[in-house]
Amino acid sequence: MVKIHERKFVSADPDKCVGCQICEYICSWTKEKAFNPLKSRIRVVRVNQLVNMAVTCRRCEDPPCVAACPRDALTVSEETGTIMVDMDKCNGCGWCIEACDYGAIKKLFMSVTCVKSKVSLNVSNGVLKKP
Ligand code: SF4
Ligand code: SF4
Repeated sequence: MVKIHERKFVSADPDKCVGCQICEYICSWTKEKAFNPLKSRIRVVRVNQLVNMAVTCRRCEDPPCVAACPRDALTVSEETGTIMVDMDKCNGCGWCIEACDYGAIKKLFMSVTCVKSKVSLNVSNGVLKKP
């Protein structure tokens, strides 16, 4: 397991962030080949009209998001500490979202047209674990 001081994550300086969201567009293109902020691993939060903050996963050593998942859908990469989502196991209950103090997990997309549609999650700075 990767040590805590070896876990790297992106950190944004709120004094410099203007909330332009370019980081979200570039991230979604890099990870998903789409210019779609909803698919970005970094998330810009507007605290108020003057203060913006870009949020990413801190890669906690003992991640509460993983412990909170009732379906074992979240795992930690042994090499990097990245949180990974198994889309087949995730049912979109949102316990992991509640458990993360940093607000690093968000819902990626949701179809309201069919009750059986999957609700998927996007862990900031993480990778989606392919089945
Ligand atoms: S998603 Fe949140 S709780 Fe989970 S490792 Fe990242 S920062 Fe920690
Ligand atoms: S939303 Fe998915 S990953 Fe999060 S706690 Fe529920 S089943 Fe687990």
